[in-house]
Amino acid sequence: MPIGRFAPSPTGRLHLGNLRTALVSWLAARTDGSELRLRFDDLDRSAVRTEHYGSQPDDLRALGLDWDGPPVRQSQRLARYREAVERLVATDLVYPCYCSRREIREAVQAPNRALAGHRYPGTCRELTAPERRARTASGRPPALRLRGDEAEVGFADLVVGDVAYPVDDFVIQRNDGTPAYHLVTVVDDADLGVELVVRADDLLDSTSRQLHVARLLDLPTADHAHVPLVLSPDGERLAKRHGSVTLDDRAVCGEDPANVLSFLAASLELCPPGEPVTPSDLIERFDLVRLPTKPLVLERSFLDCGDRPQKRYSETV
Ligand code: GLU
Repeated sequence: MPIGRFAPSPTGRLHLGNLRTALVSWLAARTDGSELRLRFDDLDRSAVRTEHYGSQPDDLRALGLDWDGPPVRQSQRLARYREAVERLVATDLVYPCYCSRREIREAVQAPNRALAGHRYPGTCRELTAPERRARTASGRPPALRLRGDEAEVGFADLVVGDVAYPVDDFVIQRNDGTPAYHLVTVVDDADLGVELVVRADDLLDSTSRQLHVARLLDLPTADHAHVPLVLSPDGERLAKRHGSVTLDDRAVCGEDPANVLSFLAASLELCPPGEPVTPSDLIERFDLVRLPTKPLVLERSFLDCGDRPQKRYSETV
């Protein structure tokens, strides 16, 4: 029975896209009677807002979703990540990278460079020892980058199907010493015994990098199910600025969490629009391989609350 997980970043209230992914994670686990873990991806300390360690679980509970065990915080697992970084460094596949984001962007955009498909242009890959010393002396601390060498790594996604992406050289430790996403997510999923990763499909191509890390660290890998994104009317990844996207916002539009759950379930083709449902009602209707594969594009009128009478949040609770 695969153990699942939901891994939000506690940087804001959960929005409809996050909540939809959480619902699918919950259903994928509970359909099998499996456990679901909650993990806070909270290593970006400047973006974390501590109140969301509380608001995010509250929002999940409001929808009727639960999880097993105490939530895990990545910020409390730094020693474990350090050990994983050291193991990768010992493989000789890791090099210091002094590039800024801007330098990488400019190098990739430079004309006449055969960089199709590359995201990291390889600037620091073959620096000599004196060149490294010169870069270090210039004051910018290096990030650590793991060689991917563009080998394609394929996997069978349970929603999207068979896919393969080239793995470029990617950062495993930022230049401020913080371990980077691809490394920590692999270590966590393995340590938590996660066997099914459900997440939004903007991370689909990240999976090839993560499988590469897992192989090098000799860690077990999970199955993957990438859920289509929820998009704004302009086709952007949903964000707070797009309108009424959180449970509090929807309450102002006159919708309670049960309405939101029904909306999300209908968007996943698990019930007709407007049917009152509980998460448990959806268990027997749910089949991961029959989820919609197209993004959910929200309408402007929905994000603006349409013609609904606008209630104050305080009147709805
Ligand atoms: N923390 C990421 C997010 O909120 C998800 C990472 C993952 O599921 O691997 O988008």
